[in-house]
Amino acid sequence: MTNHDVIIVGAGLSGLSIAHFLNKLRPDLELLLLEKSDRPGGAIQSLNIDGFLAEWGPHGFLDNIEESRELLDDLKLDGDIQKAPLRKFLRYICLNGRLKTIPQTPPKIILSDLLPLWAKLRLLGDLWRRPLPHEQTVADWATHRFGRSILPFADIILTGTYAGDIEKLSIDAAMPGLRKLEMEAGSVLRGAIRSQKNKVGNGMPSMVSFKMGMERLVIKLAADKNLVLNSEVKRLSKSDGLWRVDTNTGVYSARNLVVGLHINRALPLLNVLQTAPQLSVPEAMVANILLGFADDVKIPFGFGYLAPTSENRFALGALFPTHMFPGRAPEGMQSLEVLVGGIRNPHHFTLSDDDLIEAACSDLRQLMPLPEKPIYAKVIRPRIGIPQLEIGHARLQTYRETMENGFPGLFISGFGWEGIGANEMIKQAKRTAENLIRGSGGSRGPATVKGIYV
Ligand SMILES: Cc1cc2nc3c(=O)[nH]c(=O)nc-3n(C[C@H](O)[C@H](O)[C@H](O)COP(=O)(O)OP(=O)(O)OC[C@H]3O[C@@H](n4cnc5c(N)ncnc54)[C@H](O)[C@@H]3O)c2cc1C
Repeated sequence: MTNHDVIIVGAGLSGLSIAHFLNKLRPDLELLLLEKSDRPGGAIQSLNIDGFLAEWGPHGFLDNIEESRELLDDLKLDGDIQKAPLRKFLRYICLNGRLKTIPQTPPKIILSDLLPLWAKLRLLGDLWRRPLPHEQTVADWATHRFGRSILPFADIILTGTYAGDIEKLSIDAAMPGLRKLEMEAGSVLRGAIRSQKNKVGNGMPSMVSFKMGMERLVIKLAADKNLVLNSEVKRLSKSDGLWRVDTNTGVYSARNLVVGLHINRALPLLNVLQTAPQLSVPEAMVANILLGFADDVKIPFGFGYLAPTSENRFALGALFPTHMFPGRAPEGMQSLEVLVGGIRNPHHFTLSDDDLIEAACSDLRQLMPLPEKPIYAKVIRPRIGIPQLEIGHARLQTYRETMENGFPGLFISGFGWEGIGANEMIKQAKRTAENLIRGSGGSRGPATVKGIYV
């Protein structure tokens, strides 16, 4: 049994980014990554098929987080990066069965016909509404602050990120930055105006991906790592100051152990060390239906659209990669990626591929002038679910802190503990690396106030 300085369990974006920041901060540390599957990257996987490029997981992330920009700079991926500026690309909401452009600036919101005048005035009610101290669902919180007419918009923000249910997701856990803004300023609008005043630079961020798709990021991160694939961690234990990690490929030991897993994969392993308040959180599965059309078909210009639950449509929304990231369809063609499923529609996955394609196409044909049949269609079924940070999630975050405090040398980071986006994973990864070097875990990261871009 060889002793390592650090063992990292899981080589998804979290585990790989933690290894990257540890290498950068302390190149002398000897690291070992253990990965259950036969490839690194976890939820990030790009599909290159018949001249199309599509994604199993994330399509990109915004370049508005310092840690992610640092990671990209370190990796020197400049020639591979594709950026789609939010300022340039329109986003749509499906309302009353029609696609409508989502206005992005306060004057455009005021002038838009998305809400009646009384509902726009009610948005300003936020300035006078006291923050409620207790944990609330996103739906209750948004209604309290802005009135019920905001719900379709809150719904699409949480559909576009969590594929989740705003009646169950916790505002405190899912959007801690927004909650912090509200609590500190007494109102979201007041907080937003203040943070706008303090902001350095005024540009809107861009969506970042890579010419080879998101997988380029994890391939590059994994390139120089000491990584054992097909190595599933079965049991964690600690004796004589050393962590013992039992896997199907052998037993490994280290002074420090990082559990960099999806929360639902981490909880059963941690529960053996100390009983967890629950062994899993709900997961939203999302399928991606890749459609190819001739390039004279008129797909609305922009990123894509999202449909709130109240619209009761088959698809959660669709992305227009041809506009965002060129080069993702064969010559003379363009692609559309339709997102299906989510926490509210798990039954959609019982449908055959043909039925899913038929239902998705007939849904989209009502929204844009698409031909009867696509030239190309492929169903990309989900393999990893998006963890839901629902009411009561704080219990799990407290458990994680207790574990890190009670077991020196243990660090826990990854999908679903403190957020779900790629940026959150990279941010937590840097903090985890710094904590490990300092020798102290056990604290939640500060909630950061980020812009919300629908
Ligand atoms: C469908 C979907 C769409 C998404 N879209 C976006 C988006 O558009 N923008 C965005 O920012 N984010 C998006 N995300 C979220 C983003 O993908 C995640 O934040 C990120 O990939 C999570 O990385 P992770 O390493 O924490 O977890 P994972 O990706 O789950 O990686 C964990 C790794 O651990 C391995 N593992 C599990 N159990 C064991 C074990 N016992 N022993 C060893 N290894 C183990 C797994 O095989 C996996 O490789 C999306 C996610 C999904 C699923």
